[in-house]
Amino acid sequence: MQELLNRIRPVTETDKELPVFSYSKLEVFKNCPLQYRYKYIEKKYSQDTSIALELGSLCHYVLEQKGRMVAAKQKVDYDKLNNILLDGVSEVDEKTKEKLLGVSQLKRKYFEVWHEADNASGASYDEKIKLFDQVLHKEMEDTEWESTYFERPFEFVWDNKVILKGFIDRIDVKDGQYRTVDYKTSKKVYEQSKLATSLQFGIYALAILNEFGVLPAESKYRFILIDDEQYALTKGWEKRLIKALDKVFGDIEASGKKEIFVPKPTPLCHWCNFCQTNPEATIYRNECEYFSKWTPTQKTFEVNKKWNALENMNPTTKRKLVF
Ligand code: SF4
Repeated sequence: MQELLNRIRPVTETDKELPVFSYSKLEVFKNCPLQYRYKYIEKKYSQDTSIALELGSLCHYVLEQKGRMVAAKQKVDYDKLNNILLDGVSEVDEKTKEKLLGVSQLKRKYFEVWHEADNASGASYDEKIKLFDQVLHKEMEDTEWESTYFERPFEFVWDNKVILKGFIDRIDVKDGQYRTVDYKTSKKVYEQSKLATSLQFGIYALAILNEFGVLPAESKYRFILIDDEQYALTKGWEKRLIKALDKVFGDIEASGKKEIFVPKPTPLCHWCNFCQTNPEATIYRNECEYFSKWTPTQKTFEVNKKWNALENMNPTTKRKLVF
């Protein structure tokens, strides 16, 4: 724990110039540096949305509302929660800055895919909503762990170099111990290898350490549309997390200095806003030429165009190499 404590500290007024990172920004870089460049350096933000994003935000919001009722020791008003789930909310969500549509509107907006079974869980959205209803009734009924904080914002300085910032879906407390909970709307649970040093929970653990002075006792992914759960951060994660953060920040710095952000085409391109195979991509759909041609119906390793490092080199660096 001491090694972690040596690397973090609270944000002060003098830190305002430090670059700010969230877990998802780091994850984007790890998955594809070129996507990171488009999104965070060139600031190519699009209003693209998807059924997965919209339904995810709605379910998070409904669980947050239940959490606040439980924490206030009120009787859970399931009629109110069901109304939110069905009709959404008229005010703008604080975190997403979007109006949340309810299931009845989402059903109409995404009618082509609403009744389709997904390729991983085999469930349609109607079936997933039924599972979510079960989860909603089961969650936060634990008499040992007290669900205390919801959408908890955090920020701290890592290594005197960057500010790490974000929100934790839920923090449970039991006898001075903490448990961080992240709601996932994925179609399937994670491979075990992804859990051992989860960057997301590692960062949340640092946030808990910075705020409460201890590391969390548990880190739980709760899969709310397939009613499943997994625990992250296995023995020795602290050292592995330091290594992982050093590596990702080192790689980001090196890419920035060379101005080279190499594309990493994988099946994930199909969900990238800069990829023409993504049916939900809009204004930036033709931005990337290096995309993988993989689609759920045509599983191929082919790419549209191979990356050529020399072709994409910054002219100053290229000149240095040539002469
Ligand atoms: S389409 Fe693929 S390679 Fe291109 S930016 Fe997106 S994730 Fe990267």
